[in-house]
Amino acid sequence: MPRQFFVGGNFKMNGSVDTIKKIINHINDAEKDPNTEVVIAPPALYLLLAREHLKAPLEVAAQNVFDKPNGAFTGEISVDQLKDSNITWTLLGHSERRVVLQEDDQFVASKTKAALDGGIGVIFCCGETLEQRESGETVKVVTTQLAAVKEKVQDWSKIVIAYEPIWAIGTGKVASTEQAQEVHAAIREWLKKEVSEKVAEETRIIYGGSVSEKNCKDLSKQPDIDGFLVGGASLKPAFVDIINSHL
Ligand code: PGA
Repeated sequence: MPRQFFVGGNFKMNGSVDTIKKIINHINDAEKDPNTEVVIAPPALYLLLAREHLKAPLEVAAQNVFDKPNGAFTGEISVDQLKDSNITWTLLGHSERRVVLQEDDQFVASKTKAALDGGIGVIFCCGETLEQRESGETVKVVTTQLAAVKEKVQDWSKIVIAYEPIWAIGTGKVASTEQAQEVHAAIREWLKKEVSEKVAEETRIIYGGSVSEKNCKDLSKQPDIDGFLVGGASLKPAFVDIINSHL
């Protein structure tokens, strides 16, 4: 079975009640490829607003979730609270959290396990810095991030892997189609070797980092690119062109 194309919109810490409603209305009303799965990730404060306005079958993702059950964890959100609010996905391991909030591989993997155990899908982000790429460590870095997940998780059916080279995020410097395809193929090969042939065949590996309406078409044609995680452009009307890039 072919892998269903997947496009996520990561609003990061952007938007207001007013602008998020406008963006969602635009996405709702646009003609969209019915074969593409679309998930949008607004800031936590606007998850319920997004869920209320976004029309099915579009889904809403949190940008983060904690790995402990409800309790005394000030400032955090639990898997149960996401489920209670009909939020079916979460991003985890975004480089902005790994770098700025200093989340390490173990913590990200632990949160991945907690989300999956609770039935929440995970858009698991991985990627290398420019320095790591230049010293030839890209595949090692990415597969080390994934290996931490493998230690804790058996069922990969609700994981979407987002390969996001850090040097391409928010910089306007998109990875070339060859650079992206090469890493996606290496991730798939790693899944085949370390997890199973079935998981390698079925797991969506999406690309993130300066994706725009201009570069998405070529990237979407690569055999191992199964969609996109879009930051800046997900706040703009052009997000719909990215949703439709696979048509
Ligand atoms: P960008 O962000 O599209 O603005 O580069 C992507 C991401 O961080 O997920």
